[in-house]
Amino acid sequence: MNTNYLEHLTGVFGYPVAENPTCVMQQAAFDALGLQWRYLTIEVMPDNLPTALAGAKAMGFRGINLTIPHKVAIMALLDDIAPDARMIGAVNTVRREGDRFIGENTDGKGFLRGVREGAGIDPAGKRVALLGAGGAARAIAVELALAGAAHIEVLNRSEARGAAMADDLHSRTGVSVAFKVWTETYRVPHDADILVNATSIGLYPDVDAMPDVALDDAAPHLLVCDVIPNPPETPFLRAAQARGLPTLNGLSMLVYQGVIGFQMWTGQTPPEAVMKAALEKAFEA
Ligand code: NDP
Repeated sequence: MNTNYLEHLTGVFGYPVAENPTCVMQQAAFDALGLQWRYLTIEVMPDNLPTALAGAKAMGFRGINLTIPHKVAIMALLDDIAPDARMIGAVNTVRREGDRFIGENTDGKGFLRGVREGAGIDPAGKRVALLGAGGAARAIAVELALAGAAHIEVLNRSEARGAAMADDLHSRTGVSVAFKVWTETYRVPHDADILVNATSIGLYPDVDAMPDVALDDAAPHLLVCDVIPNPPETPFLRAAQARGLPTLNGLSMLVYQGVIGFQMWTGQTPPEAVMKAALEKAFEA
């Protein structure tokens, strides 16, 4: 008998984490390629993160995703951190290099790939209006800056958080940045090329909520993007489409960040269509 029951382990650490659908996408990809790999959804309380990571190393985990509340705390526990993840100030993906755990951030990379491949736009030289200053906004802003964006205007409801994010972005990447407190309707300027909703406005179950933005002055080529993966088509994107503007949804970002993680972990070409279909099915359920 020539049987190998050994499974390579990956998974997500978070709390709460029960509703995180990443397992569906990654497991479908492993199965489609016939890989004997498992993706586990693992509840880890904040105090237990160091022990959980040490346990994962001992058990030979090939990769780990981090979600709330571990994306920043994990950084002090890793063997090394990729330069862009350090600039973002958060890690959402850990990959293994021999015995070392390396921190990466694939959120912004996933977004960027959607802009380049989904929307067919090169962010180099573009002017960006970015709504939000949380983890997703930081990741997107750093990757857009590294991709050569000409200017990023950050809008955020909370002044302290927005100003700190804009300062960090400029000092870490050198990109031209402006910050505006966002307490009334934001009129998107005519010279903006890319508009991104990187807030949680519109996320299930609050599916009718919409960022307070006026598109009357928008140029006809303005690419309107939303990070909300569930539902993929938000009222924000529908309003942009009604004006004939091109759009990019948050499901694209979620799939692409998972695709990048899969490739980092396995070294194999990810079955992207399988991953996207698995997530779409999970959101329908
Ligand atoms: P954070 O909690 O770090 O940041 C939330 C941001 O949204 C803050 O800027 C906050 O502003 C703003 N915000 C929330 N509610 C409102 C409101 N009513 N009015 C104005 N601003 C508001 O969250 P994350 O950055 O981690 O996540 C943001 C969204 O991105 C989530 O919906 C998440 O699902 C999505 N996401 C999608 C990914 C994908 O792959 N598609 C990947 C990662 C995240 P303030 O500072 O004033 O509170």
